[in-house]
Amino acid sequence: MGYVYDDQNIFAKILRGEIPNTTVLETEHCLAFHDIYAQAPEHVLVIPKGPYVCFDHFSNMASAEEIVDFTRAIGQVALALKVDPGNGGDGYRLLANTGKNGVQDVPHLHVHLVAGRPLGRMLRNN
Ligand code: AMP
Repeated sequence: MGYVYDDQNIFAKILRGEIPNTTVLETEHCLAFHDIYAQAPEHVLVIPKGPYVCFDHFSNMASAEEIVDFTRAIGQVALALKVDPGNGGDGYRLLANTGKNGVQDVPHLHVHLVAGRPLGRMLRNN
């Protein structure tokens, strides 16, 4: 099957500057910005600039440099938000919704970093 990247997705438009965003951090290979429908006091999306549909696409196809940059960018966002436990922060949750069962709405890899309140157990039966 492979991956087909739709360059008309909303995050591709953000990366091209066609849609505004509230940037938290930009690196050579990544952009982090506030989620427009925040579900917690802090809700930031971290995306690679490359055309990757989802996490497994990225982890299989991205360069080592991109993968390191993405991983470090997520950590830097936690630092910028002062939620990293290593510096006394109250912690956060990372989520990467993927595909149909993961209920991924935007087909460009993004990690949600949510924080700022107790987030409850991860998955409840529903
Ligand atoms: P997902 O369901 O994991 O694909 O999440 C997509 C996320 O993108 C949702 O949390 C949306 O609120 C968020 N979102 C959609 N459009 C925008 C936008 N223009 N700027 C920032 N976040 C957005």
